[in-house]
Amino acid sequence: KSLTSADVRQLFLDFFKEKGHSVEPSASLVPHEDPTLLWINSGVATLKKYFDGRVTPENPRIVNAQKSIRTNDIENVGFTARHHTFFEMLGNFSIGDYFKEEAIEWGWEFLTSEKWIGFDPEKLSVTVHPQDDEAYEIWRDKVGLDEERIIRIEENFWDIGEGPSGPNTEIFYDRGEEFGNDPQDPELYPGGENERYLEIWNLVFSQFNHNPDDTYTPLPKKNIDTGMGLERIVCVIQGTKTNFETDLFMPIIEKAEQISGRKYGNSTDEDSAFKVIADHMRTVTFAVSDGALPSNEGRGYVLRRLLRRAVRFAKQIGIDQPFMYKLVPEVSKIMVDFYPEVKEKEAFIQNVIKTEEERFHETLNDGLAILSSIMKQETEKGSNVFPGTEVFRLYDTYGFPKELTEEYIADAGFTIDEEGFRLEMEKQRERARNARQKTDSMQIQDGVLGDVHVESEFVGYDNLQATSTIVE
Ligand code: ATP
Ligand code: MG
Ligand code: MG
Ligand code: MG
Repeated sequence: KSLTSADVRQLFLDFFKEKGHSVEPSASLVPHEDPTLLWINSGVATLKKYFDGRVTPENPRIVNAQKSIRTNDIENVGFTARHHTFFEMLGNFSIGDYFKEEAIEWGWEFLTSEKWIGFDPEKLSVTVHPQDDEAYEIWRDKVGLDEERIIRIEENFWDIGEGPSGPNTEIFYDRGEEFGNDPQDPELYPGGENERYLEIWNLVFSQFNHNPDDTYTPLPKKNIDTGMGLERIVCVIQGTKTNFETDLFMPIIEKAEQISGRKYGNSTDEDSAFKVIADHMRTVTFAVSDGALPSNEGRGYVLRRLLRRAVRFAKQIGIDQPFMYKLVPEVSKIMVDFYPEVKEKEAFIQNVIKTEEERFHETLNDGLAILSSIMKQETEKGSNVFPGTEVFRLYDTYGFPKELTEEYIADAGFTIDEEGFRLEMEKQRERARNARQKTDSMQIQDGVLGDVHVESEFVGYDNLQATSTIVE
């Protein structure tokens, strides 16, 4: 079947609409009501109010396609076929309404029915929790799956500490021997670390309450929470080697090819660079369109890290100038129908990114020169530890997030003196505290002083943030 990513997203929403679900729009990536969460990282994250009973939804059946950001997978991004920092999660939810049987049967119907996705059932296998006989039996008896394709795995339990928790079942697509055929490979099974059995869908059965004393009691109202990565299912449908060759990424990569004069598909290293750039572009574009801005802390720090990481990879394909802002229109073109907000804010997003890129480029070469001279010094001393004071200097004066320095030096076998870096950060916080106290007491003497801004030596990016009015 030939389907675009937009078709797949729509099919998912339509399928569950037919099953009595209400379609919820994708919520902002910036959590509104949840201070524990940096980014919305799944479909259920925006529906917590229903799951914990604070709000009763009009319809207990909900379906959505939710923008999500995860940084826990960042090391994988560009290197595995399936991980992103920004991705879309397709999910259907039951708030105390239907449970395991419908969730499993509908999931199967959506994936295998010719009317919908039409996957060959032979390619699918599932994992369940070892004690979840109920799910096992539904897969075996209702769906009719061979027992050898129902695997019991201990990790299939979803638990975030106190609150609703329960077993889950995951659905895998076997992409065939060309993605792994070594019978000795201990990771070659659905749920193992491999590229062959692709985890596409996770169905969570939240049926217990995890109590403060670490006991579990059955919930009076059981919920369903599922999540399927759009990029992954599209990858399978479009038959591409990784998610990145699908229509969700390729136009971005093609634009990067044009800018760099290099070709995607020629070398593994260069391909990784293209992938990282395309991935990080989507993340930053969507995050900025939802109101986040690069800065030195929290969400802003994540964006800063991603942009600077993209700059590092861009060097590998010969790009030495600000360019990422030029990719924003590609992202908005791909997404405009479902996420018009990106197109609407395109110029603003471009300016934010351009400013941030320019700022980093101003100090990039000096920073890199320092980086290599420090490594040379340390090597001569017989050390491969990068001193914390230098990590701090690179961060504070040259705008290298610690994680970026770490990645740069890892290639040369270096590690970071974490403790030293932590001490420097603490000292900086101390200095900031003292400076604040000083200004406060000055303001008592003369209120006018509070409005005077003294441009001092460059001491880090947050200071510039205030003056970063956007200029094209
Ligand atoms: P994986 O084991 O591949 O890292 P996961 O088990 O951590 O995935 P879940 O938390 O179960 O993922 O999320 C539900 C679904 O969302 C996954 O089955 C997958 O399709 C998709 N997904 C999760 N993390 C990512 C990611 N970093 N990039 C793209 N898709 C993702
Ligand atoms: Mg993961
Ligand atoms: Mg998994
Ligand atoms: Mg999972």
